Amino acid sequence: MGKSLYDKVFEQHAVRKLDSGQYQLLMGLHLIHEVTSPQAFAMLRDRGLGVPYPERTFATCDHIIPTHTQLRPFTDGLAEQMLVELEQNCARYGIRYLSPKAGEQGIVHVIGPELGLTQPGMTVCCGDSHTSTHGAFGAIALGIGTTQVRDVLATQTLAMDKLKVRRIEVNGQLKPGVYAKDVVLYVIHQLGVQGGVGYAYEFAGTTFDGFTMEERMTVCNMSIEGGARCGYVNPDETTYAYLKDREYAPKGAKWDSAVKYWNSIRSDADAQYDDVVKYAAEDIEPMVTWGITPAQSTAVGAKLPKATEFPSGDRPLIDEAYQYMGFAPGDPLRGQKIDVAFIGSCTNGRFSDFEEVVRYLKTSGKKVAPGVRALVVPGSQKVRERLIEAGFDKVFSDAGFEFREAGCSMCLAMNPDKLVGRELCASSSNRNFKGRQGSPTGRTLLMSPVMVAAAAVSGAVADAREVFAIQN
Ligand code: SF4
Repeated sequence: MGKSLYDKVFEQHAVRKLDSGQYQLLMGLHLIHEVTSPQAFAMLRDRGLGVPYPERTFATCDHIIPTHTQLRPFTDGLAEQMLVELEQNCARYGIRYLSPKAGEQGIVHVIGPELGLTQPGMTVCCGDSHTSTHGAFGAIALGIGTTQVRDVLATQTLAMDKLKVRRIEVNGQLKPGVYAKDVVLYVIHQLGVQGGVGYAYEFAGTTFDGFTMEERMTVCNMSIEGGARCGYVNPDETTYAYLKDREYAPKGAKWDSAVKYWNSIRSDADAQYDDVVKYAAEDIEPMVTWGITPAQSTAVGAKLPKATEFPSGDRPLIDEAYQYMGFAPGDPLRGQKIDVAFIGSCTNGRFSDFEEVVRYLKTSGKKVAPGVRALVVPGSQKVRERLIEAGFDKVFSDAGFEFREAGCSMCLAMNPDKLVGRELCASSSNRNFKGRQGSPTGRTLLMSPVMVAAAAVSGAVADAREVFAIQN
């Protein structure tokens, strides 16, 4: 019987089965940042433990770093202290720190792939939920908590249950104006935010096969929002072309043997899955969330659903979402006035995300609508550099967007970029939980970067295909 990539990689990294029934899994790559690592290092020190494999851990700062300026010391004393602790811990334990000063900083899930650190067949972990992003390379990539960060620092292993695997096939050609973000929002809408609990998601089918690595990262990034512990795409020539010659990718003969290994860990044609679901790409429309979970979404042209359209168990959450968002069943999403537009995050803060927006800003000549605060925040310093080299910073500025320094920015708002009061934000990020963007009453609408741009120039939720005359 054939095996899935998940089964193969899991088995190759399982050190032993624990008495608890869990497995001790070797972690090939550990990424750390300033928010979840200080306590983990403190726990190590309390127990007199060291970091035996520092060459497998890489650090950067992303969550707390201001994006209007990276000048030190930060005005927020707590943020400054977190960064100082990260720097000291890296120096003390011999961990490579990808710093702003060296021009290597960025969101942890943007820089790992960018540097070629993330590779097929690897186990990757990080104290951040959206570590699932790295699964785009055919890795098992797991978000972990602070105690587990400590465990990985001390042992390079993690105790975990073996997951079931659901193959999610999307086949066919997406319509113009429909993006990877729409696909993953659609999948989460279909399966629910709890649908993936206990699963690894394998994304397959001709639509994912045709995606670029950046598109695959967008999809895998949000696996966690569908409840899955991780998500992945089998590695292929697209993966290898992306990785070739990146700083940490294997070189020369090592590259050839790596490709041989990477091909061997692809899911077998006769692999057995615990579940298989299939969707048609042509059924997917530009998606927008209207509620307080990433599954509470709808096609941009649709009217908001009635609570009675949902199973009775879901209705309290639907009612809560309507109350919080201030929308009502039957309302159109299109035309809802927005206050803020945010393009960035580890879901959609890569070069191609901005490049696509620039394409439509240039052809349309449209500007950010009066009264809308619009932020463009590159996912890494390297992405930012490329945008500047291409002259895109100027396109954004001329159109009325603020072009910022790299960081997580308004995705989680652990930095000065926050919503104020009940502001409504069109956002290319990944979570629309209550208060996610820094105001306890702030409201988030998740959508693709091009849809955020359409909302920014319209001053309201809009169908980007109409705003930018995207042709069928
Ligand atoms: S961009 Fe958002 S989801 Fe991604 S690592 Fe930063 S805070 Fe987390």
